[in-house]
Amino acid sequence: MAIYLCHEQPDLYEHEATVIESRPGAVVLSRTAFHPGGGGQVSDVGTIEWNGGAGAVTGIEIEGDRWWHMLATDDTPSGDVRVVVDADHRLRVASLHTTSHVLNAFVFSEFHGALVTGAQINGDGTGRMDFDLPDVDNDRLRALADPVNDVIKRGVAVRSVYVDAADAAITAGLVRSMSVAPPPTPDGKLRIIDIDGIDRQACGGTHLANTGHSRPIAITKVENKGRHNRRVRFAFAG
Ligand SMILES: [Zn+2]
Repeated sequence: MAIYLCHEQPDLYEHEATVIESRPGAVVLSRTAFHPGGGGQVSDVGTIEWNGGAGAVTGIEIEGDRWWHMLATDDTPSGDVRVVVDADHRLRVASLHTTSHVLNAFVFSEFHGALVTGAQINGDGTGRMDFDLPDVDNDRLRALADPVNDVIKRGVAVRSVYVDAADAAITAGLVRSMSVAPPPTPDGKLRIIDIDGIDRQACGGTHLANTGHSRPIAITKVENKGRHNRRVRFAFAG
């Protein structure tokens, strides 16, 4: 997979495209600003408008190198279309996803390099992260909401950079999660999300340009999942 259009142009929410393959209720487009999801993050949603109709896009299904935009209708669009990404949905997901990096950073430093074992960022303003933390008081995890919200309040810059995958693999902490790191690009580059002074890790998801663009979060629940794992659930506060 080449670099995603939504990574190259994170503020692109509307554009023209051509249908290159279709079946009832699904299309493959010549280009798309949709993020396909992955690593626990849901895909973008939005709409596609074609000559004589329009349909809601409920998600993306990847089949080889084709991204099927799944429609809420059984239409079979063709020709030129207008692609519209739901900006509110993108913002909710990117906010919680960016904040999950901040939470991850505090867990990593508080608990001596504890790794992520799973993550889920939903479109409804909720998410969770699972950490490999065998012997931890759950109240210590709940207490991390305060420093996470401090980082949101401070408005810290978030940049994406591409590094050599071979270098990244030997940099401690960079490819931190056990399950969510994206594959390198064909030319061996890994996308790194750098939250200035807070966190730096490989990730292929959607993120804010500044932590201050997120609403504050609450840690809504901490659960024990097996002997080793703690599941931390979070959501926008208020
Ligand atoms: Zn990320």
